[in-house]
Amino acid sequence: MRDKKRDELLEIYRLLRNRFGHRNWWPADSSFEVIIGAILTQNVAWNNASKAIDGLKRANMLEPLALNERAAEEIAPLIKPSRFYNMKAMKIKNFMDFYYREYGGDLSVMSAESPAVLRKKLLAVKGLGQETADCILLYACGMPIFVVDAYTKRILQRYGIFKKEPSYEEAQRYFTENLPRDIELYNDFHAQIVQLGNCVCKTRPLCGSCPIAAVNGSKCRFTITTVHRSE
Ligand code: SF4
Repeated sequence: MRDKKRDELLEIYRLLRNRFGHRNWWPADSSFEVIIGAILTQNVAWNNASKAIDGLKRANMLEPLALNERAAEEIAPLIKPSRFYNMKAMKIKNFMDFYYREYGGDLSVMSAESPAVLRKKLLAVKGLGQETADCILLYACGMPIFVVDAYTKRILQRYGIFKKEPSYEEAQRYFTENLPRDIELYNDFHAQIVQLGNCVCKTRPLCGSCPIAAVNGSKCRFTITTVHRSE
């Protein structure tokens, strides 16, 4: 049974990659930028986060020492495009306090933690939820942690793997229990899911042009059970 699930997931990945190409995530110049980007993109499109990152770069603030020395009030105006910028400036400061207190601002020290310990510590930082923590673990620290987002849960349900929308933990467990423990695969699979959710499996899904409408002879359950039309 596990082999069947693994084969299905690997085929889904293959079809997505054939359609979208390797996504080359995370889009950042450094691992530290990944961390700040993961906070800035909370609840907004990546475009907003990207503009906020540019604002930090223009002010020479996208490096640990500079961000650690500045107050949240100084950071907030620079990240306005990310919306909720006062709250996000506080979250960045909360992370910086943790980063220096625990690891002296050194990513290699932080990355030497065990994934389970670091995940627990990140989740204890005010303002970091599961998705943000897991993005940091996978894309900044190179740890084998599968990232789940709203698209992942929606697609798992629509596709028919779960009868109702799974929790974060259920969705994550499904991937990690059935896929090889492969950081590169985790990296690009999540990115492919985001692309599918963004462009095809939207609120009103474009099933007629979906690369995973049929996988290994099985049809996506949504296409069987729901009368819908393409946008
Ligand atoms: S076939 Fe439709 S519902 Fe199923 S994954 Fe593709 S876009 Fe989403």
